[in-house]
Amino acid sequence: MIVLDGKATAQSIRTELKAEVAELTPKFGRAPGLAVILVGDDPASQVYVRNKERACTEVGINSFPHRLPAETTQQELEALIDQLNADVNVDGILLQLPVPKGLDSRRCLEQIRPDKDVDGFHPANMGRLAQGLPGFAPCTPAGVMELLRRYDLSTQGKHAVVVGRSNIVGRPLSIMLSQPGRFGDATVTLCHSRTPDLPEQCRQADFLFAAIGKPKFITCDMVKKGAVVVDVGINRVDDCLMGDCDYECIVDTASAMTPVPGGIGPMTIAMLMKNSVLAYKDHVGAK
Ligand code: NDP
Repeated sequence: MIVLDGKATAQSIRTELKAEVAELTPKFGRAPGLAVILVGDDPASQVYVRNKERACTEVGINSFPHRLPAETTQQELEALIDQLNADVNVDGILLQLPVPKGLDSRRCLEQIRPDKDVDGFHPANMGRLAQGLPGFAPCTPAGVMELLRRYDLSTQGKHAVVVGRSNIVGRPLSIMLSQPGRFGDATVTLCHSRTPDLPEQCRQADFLFAAIGKPKFITCDMVKKGAVVVDVGINRVDDCLMGDCDYECIVDTASAMTPVPGGIGPMTIAMLMKNSVLAYKDHVGAK
C-alpha cells in the first residue's frame, strides 16, 4: 500500500512557493501579505493559526496576526475586515473558524473581498468553482486534489464516493472531482447522514474520501479491495489526533491511503500559502 505523504508533499509545495516569492518580492517591491484573524482562545484554533503563521514565515509571506478577545462584537469584527479589505499590503484574509458563539461567521466570510478570500469560502468563489472558472478553491479539498495529482492517481472514469457534504470540504470536493480533467472526470456519489446503507455506497468506491468528523468511522469492511482512501478527518481523542478512517484495518485493503496526522492537514496549509501567493500575483500584476 502506498502511504500518501501529505507532510512531504506539502514541504515540496512550500519550497516551490518560497522560490517564487523570493523572485517576485524584489521585483514588485513588497512580499505577499496574509492577515490571520483569530477570535477567542480555542486551543485547537490557536495551534492551526500558529502552524499557518509558521508556514508564512517559511515561504516569505508577511503574516499580519489579529488576535481578538472572545468578547469581540460583530461590529468590531466587521470593522477589522473592512480595514483589511482596504489595506494594500494585505493580499489574503483568513478568519479562523469556528468563531465564538454570538458572532455570525457567514456574514463575516461574505464581507471578505472575493479577491482576498484565500480560504475560498466566499459564495462568489464557490460559484466560480461550481462553474469551473478560475478563483480561490477551498484549501482542504484543493489539498486533496493536489495530493492525488502529485502521486499521479488519476480519478478519470473512476467512481468517487465522498462522505460528508460540508461547504468547506465534502461539497466542494465533489465538485472538483466532477470537473473535466485527468484529476476530475469521476462519477461522484456524495454521501451524508441521511444516506441509506452507507457501507454499501462506500464499497462501490474506487476513490473513497472521508470528511465526517467521527473517529475511525470508516472500517475495512466499507472499503473495496485496491481502493484509494483519503482521510480528511481530524479528531482529537485523548490528546491524540485520529482520522475518520480506521487506518490500521484499512491498510491491508486499500492500494493507497493518507495518514492522520501527516495527510490532508499539511496539504490544507500548503494550499492556503498557494492561494495567498496567487492573490498577491493578481494584486501586483505579476504574470
Ligand atoms: P461537518 O461537521 O461540517 O460535516 C460533516 C459531514 O459528515 C456532514 O455532511 C454530515 O452529514 C456527515 N456525517 C456526519 N455523520 C455521518 C454519518 N453517520 N454518516 C454519514 N455522514 C455523516 O464537518 P467538516 O466537513 O467541517 O469536517 C469533517 C472532518 O474533516 C472533521 O474531522 C474536521 O476536523 C476535518 N477537517 C480537516 C481539515 C484538514 O485540514 N485536514 C480541514 C477541515 C475539516 P449531514 O450534512 O447530513 O449532517
